[in-house]
Amino acid sequence: MSPEINYQEAFTLAIKLSEQIDYQSLTHDFLYSLEKFSFVSHAAAYEIYGERRQRTGQASCASEQLIRRFPLDLTDEEPNEAFDLLEEINTVIGFKPSKPNAAGLFTQILASIRDVSGPDRVVLIQGEFDNDALELISSVIALYRNQVALHDNKERDLLTKLPNRQTFDARILQVCEHFRLRPLVDRVLDKSSWIAMADIDHFKQVNDTYGHQCGDEVLLVFSRLLEKYFRYNDFLFRFGGEEFVIILNLVAEADALATFERFRKAIADYQFETVGKITVSIGVAHIYASSVPTILLDRADKALYYGKTNGRNQLNLYENLYEEC
Ligand code: GH3
Ligand code: MG
Ligand code: MG
Repeated sequence: MSPEINYQEAFTLAIKLSEQIDYQSLTHDFLYSLEKFSFVSHAAAYEIYGERRQRTGQASCASEQLIRRFPLDLTDEEPNEAFDLLEEINTVIGFKPSKPNAAGLFTQILASIRDVSGPDRVVLIQGEFDNDALELISSVIALYRNQVALHDNKERDLLTKLPNRQTFDARILQVCEHFRLRPLVDRVLDKSSWIAMADIDHFKQVNDTYGHQCGDEVLLVFSRLLEKYFRYNDFLFRFGGEEFVIILNLVAEADALATFERFRKAIADYQFETVGKITVSIGVAHIYASSVPTILLDRADKALYYGKTNGRNQLNLYENLYEEC
């Protein structure tokens, strides 16, 4: 089964990939294009978060790796099929076809995309491939890898590698759309999503006292703690300066507040190298069915401002301060 593709088609595919405006649409288009090849039955992409762990030979080790299947969907359960492949996904470097079957065809390809600004990614392609098909797919993946690197540079903050404000704008629209399609009945008890603005307290003093470079180090460690305390289907952003935005997905109000409070306390308790202790103020707002992104941001900001003017190092929920919904 040889790939039936001519140069014109290959160029068209390359042009389409290079036209995509962001990582999301690039990856959508890439997977869609792969599945159009007759010799591909299934294509998927995964993002890998968390520390790469030492191999211990224990199955439980696997569950500590955070794997998100593309597209990032706030309702996604952890992708079960990836766990069967976790060990392979975790260790694959470059382009790795499976062993050929009895007919001499390869049935699976794993290809890693590492050393980019964003998380490590792995592409999984299943089907039946001869050597020509392998060569073609390898070229398409090389193209995709370059595009991912370009988009990461644009969509992620250079210092912390977290998604930046521009990426937030696209993501919050998706979350609002999700709740427009599935309105909630009970704000407090239903599982819903929450937007939080977290701003480091008196950060200017950190810079003034210890220098800008130490300030940068604090921002970096703060980002890693964010990644540690939130789940694989929550969305984290560096909004600018010492301000971060978190979208916490599908939890009831009490659990959401407990999660943010745990993070606030973790920061207050953390001993930062050189700088010692810092604190963070967090303002939270509920993402309701008819939410508009600018209003949500404004609400989270108001709750944050309330904390800043009432002692800092605290968590406030907009709805508790200003509204009883
Ligand atoms: P507040 O508790 O009211 O938030 O006080 P603050 O000092 O944290 O807030 P302010 O907005 O006055 O100062 C924020 C500081 O953050 C000023 C700016 O120099 C610093 N900053 C912004 N971006 C960066 C960065 O990328 N690196 C470093 N080191 N500092 C930054
Ligand atoms: Mg601040
Ligand atoms: Mg600020």
